[in-house]
Amino acid sequence: MGSGPAFGWSHMKTVVWFRRDLRVRDNSALYEATSEKGRAVVALYIITPEQWQEHDDAPAKVHFWLENVRELKTELEALHIPLLVRETKRYDQIPRLITKLMAEVEADALYVNAEYEVNERGRDEAVRAALKKKGGKFLAFTDRVILAPDAIETGGGTPYTVFTPYRKKWTEHASESAPSVLPRARKQEKMRGISSDDVPEKVRGFDFTSARPDLWPAGESAAKKKLSRFVKEKIEGYDDRRDFPAVAGTSTLSPCLAAGVLSPRQCFEAARDANNGSIAGGRKGIATWISEIIWREFYTHILYSYPRVSMHRPFRLDTERLIWNESDELYDAWREGRTGYPIVDAAQRQLVQTGWMHNRLRMVTAMFFSKDLFLDWRLGERHFMQNLVDGDLAANNGGWQWSASTGTDAAPYFRIFNPDSQSARFDPDAKFIKKFCPELADVDPKKLHNVAKFTPLERAACDYPEPIVDHKRARERAIDAFKNLK
Ligand SMILES: Cc1cc2nc3c(=O)[nH]c(=O)nc-3n(C[C@H](O)[C@H](O)[C@H](O)COP(=O)(O)OP(=O)(O)OC[C@H]3O[C@@H](n4cnc5c(N)ncnc54)[C@H](O)[C@@H]3O)c2cc1C
Repeated sequence: MGSGPAFGWSHMKTVVWFRRDLRVRDNSALYEATSEKGRAVVALYIITPEQWQEHDDAPAKVHFWLENVRELKTELEALHIPLLVRETKRYDQIPRLITKLMAEVEADALYVNAEYEVNERGRDEAVRAALKKKGGKFLAFTDRVILAPDAIETGGGTPYTVFTPYRKKWTEHASESAPSVLPRARKQEKMRGISSDDVPEKVRGFDFTSARPDLWPAGESAAKKKLSRFVKEKIEGYDDRRDFPAVAGTSTLSPCLAAGVLSPRQCFEAARDANNGSIAGGRKGIATWISEIIWREFYTHILYSYPRVSMHRPFRLDTERLIWNESDELYDAWREGRTGYPIVDAAQRQLVQTGWMHNRLRMVTAMFFSKDLFLDWRLGERHFMQNLVDGDLAANNGGWQWSASTGTDAAPYFRIFNPDSQSARFDPDAKFIKKFCPELADVDPKKLHNVAKFTPLERAACDYPEPIVDHKRARERAIDAFKNLK
């Protein structure tokens, strides 16, 4: 330990600072802290309203976080670990808050699970330095992902930028040394003098009226149950059903993974066990689902290795020369689900109403935004973040840059989805469209999959807008813009 005015208590404690790892099971920082004999553990959660607003964290997501912190408090109390809840506006005030708090509770060690975004890394480095000055210890564990983002690299020692070889290497690595789900954290002796704080119902600057706890119940038990049910009932059919938004074919576990109510290890292990220990082969549905977990790891690897993607910059720097359209009218129509393309509108309304969007539709609507409307993908990325209950910088940025063809392993710029054919292929009976665009309930699905055949008169009859763009012409314009970069 470093020098300085050391924390000097006879019975030192460890503080476990929870961030996006809101669970007691399979939590590396908590497990390690509680495994150390003779040390008591105190838990901490910090609310940072201004920082969250700056990061465009959605009110629905912040609500989901707080609900989970409440559940976490109960789970921690069963282990006799008090949860302290503090609030400060921004990350830069955290080093001071933590050193003060650690002195108050007589702790000299802080354990966390590592986070990889630029601001979060900066915050943690500042906390580490502040603690070091006081002779305190800061330990960060790999927990948000299965393999640390710098654990695997290409033969040339560089980060991977293409998914398929990354997945191959990841699979080899994980087959040999994937960490297993951890044993339960140890229950400690009852602690005198420190008791848990209340978890606030409100956070300044966030309006929780859009939150949907009916769709996204909080707590580890609910998350674990959802995972078990998915693995038992749906995972085998995942490959065939995952692209159809009207079918409940995916796990919908993303909010739990994003908030860390569930660990990726728990998901990976449950799937691998159901696949008789196989990661890449075996049952197709299971292997495909594991591959999605690896996409999550891949985008974290990219975010960590190329910090510019955290800072509103494209991975492909040449695409900074693209001149995007500037149109509030087009942007608002897309945001509000009034583009005249039923599949896009239904998707956008699903996002706003539920805080979640089906993966196929995220690709369709992000590509429509960046290619058909030729609007700056960063605006679309931001709107998603401001509404998603599962908003995660690495995955959201990765998905947007994939769709806009500005990213690492992005869709080639000339392969632009046709919203009509995506709609016909993945929502053939227009069941999904009709659920979120009820004004289209009586329209023949064939017309909903063919904007040209859905006449202005018919549109007017159901109070549904004209298409705001002609796909064919927009496609050519987007391709030309990318070609001109060369
Ligand atoms: C434009 C765009 C934006 C996106 N934004 C986010 C986001 O903010 N947060 C987020 O978690 N996912 C995001 N995704 C990825 C994906 O759409 C969601 O993870 C998925 O729809 C969540 O549903 P699910 O839990 O049923 O997934 P499942 O199909 O059951 O997959 C299991 C888990 O794997 C992970 N996963 C699946 N697909 C991807 C992917 N392409 N990239 C990274 N991780 C993946 C998720 O954690 C997911 O919960 C985005 C994709 C696109 C195209």
